Amino acid sequence: MKNVVKVALGLVLLVVLAVAAVVLLRTWATPPLAAADAKGSYTPLKFDQDQAVARFAGAVKLHTVSTGEAPPSTEDLAAFHAYLAEQFPRVHHALQVEEVGHGGLLITWKGQDTSVAPVILMAHQDTVPVDPDTRARWTRDPWSGEVSDGVIWGRGALDDKASVVSILEAAEQLLQQGFEPRRTLYFAFGSDEERGGEGGAVAIVALLKQRGVHAQLVLDEGGAYTNGLMPGVAGDLAMVGIAEKGYVSVKLSVQAAGGHSSQPPPQSAIGILSHALVQLEAKQMPAKLAPTATAMFDALAPLLPFPARMAVRNRWLLGSVLIGELEKTPSGNAMVRTTTAETTFNAGVKDNVLPTVANATINFRILPGDTVAGVLEHVRRVVADPRVTIEPGQEQNEPSPTSPIDGEGLKLVRQTIQQVSPGVPVVPYLVTAATDASHYVPVSTEQLRFVPYHLTPTTIQRFHGIDEGIPVSDYLNCVQFAAQFMRNAAG
Ligand SMILES: [Zn+2]
Repeated sequence: MKNVVKVALGLVLLVVLAVAAVVLLRTWATPPLAAADAKGSYTPLKFDQDQAVARFAGAVKLHTVSTGEAPPSTEDLAAFHAYLAEQFPRVHHALQVEEVGHGGLLITWKGQDTSVAPVILMAHQDTVPVDPDTRARWTRDPWSGEVSDGVIWGRGALDDKASVVSILEAAEQLLQQGFEPRRTLYFAFGSDEERGGEGGAVAIVALLKQRGVHAQLVLDEGGAYTNGLMPGVAGDLAMVGIAEKGYVSVKLSVQAAGGHSSQPPPQSAIGILSHALVQLEAKQMPAKLAPTATAMFDALAPLLPFPARMAVRNRWLLGSVLIGELEKTPSGNAMVRTTTAETTFNAGVKDNVLPTVANATINFRILPGDTVAGVLEHVRRVVADPRVTIEPGQEQNEPSPTSPIDGEGLKLVRQTIQQVSPGVPVVPYLVTAATDASHYVPVSTEQLRFVPYHLTPTTIQRFHGIDEGIPVSDYLNCVQFAAQFMRNAAG
């Protein structure tokens, strides 16, 4: 008997040692950062940088504001288009410029070989408004396009006029140099992205579809160089969005008899609704490592500190440990699950009156792999109370498809990043916000999201925030990147 126990213990020890050996070997055998596949030559574009910055600053001055009520006005968009036509004459003479839908712009630069699938560079012309309550906290006039302290300041400078104008600047300069694209390039500029894109991107996509266009890729905003935003990783990372989350808001409401508060029932409408809300926060949609997360971790692995690298490289064993760590922070949690955000709550009118109605809204951002229907089913199952009415909101987006990590488009983006910013690791990732890119799924094979500006925990606050602005060096980098991307894609 003793011998049997000894043998069993010995076997357990062997298995433990074997597992430990595999875990360590896999950790040590982490492939180094992908070797630069910076094929092709890179000569920075030569152009008058001061003039380019002035042209961009002029575009920031123009109001193209989407509000909660309306997209930018026809007049505002017309003024913006007139400015672009005046500043970029070659583009407007040599290329086909069309206004589509409500002020959307589709610019076609016809390639010599129309058998090659085209490439679409995207951006949006509209900006969010300047909140009057925070206007006094801007240190620069948000509509001045002021250039000072090495920054071009103003609403829309980052989001997303730097993209619109740098793409046009790059094309203008390439035209001047006699560049003729091999494949067709499109520039597609939506006019109401901040409101969902119905008037701009959706109209452009309908036109492309009607013309039978199917692009290899669209490249939109949604990724950037980040520094200090990935825990445990130092230095710049080029985060390229390969998918974006879906969106649905769910309204919960409870009707009750109301009446005087001196003789209340055991639960008021508020109590019933609160219970449902507490349950929904306690029992969230399950966490999982979607292909976007595994692609990101595979790219990050060589940069991570040893314990994190061990977990990332041994997901077969430590996947749940990794998920547990990610769940601890809001940004990590958003990476691994459909998030539950309870955003509005309304009930009651007076301290001695029982409410007749209570309602609340919960905003879900849906992980690729989950669905709107799945979210609704989850809410019904968790709430499980017939007194609570559950209603999905009108705006519903399924998560986008995930673009392949070995696709031609991502190779082109990676090549361009490595030429323009040598040595910066390229990391595919999941965009947790919504962009116009997902509208282009029916007319493109890959949808990628990257603009080459640098974001830190401080500068990321400038998006939709106070003192929006882009460093001059970043704007010039956007021009170089756009030009080099066009040369790589269509040279
Ligand atoms: Zn944007």
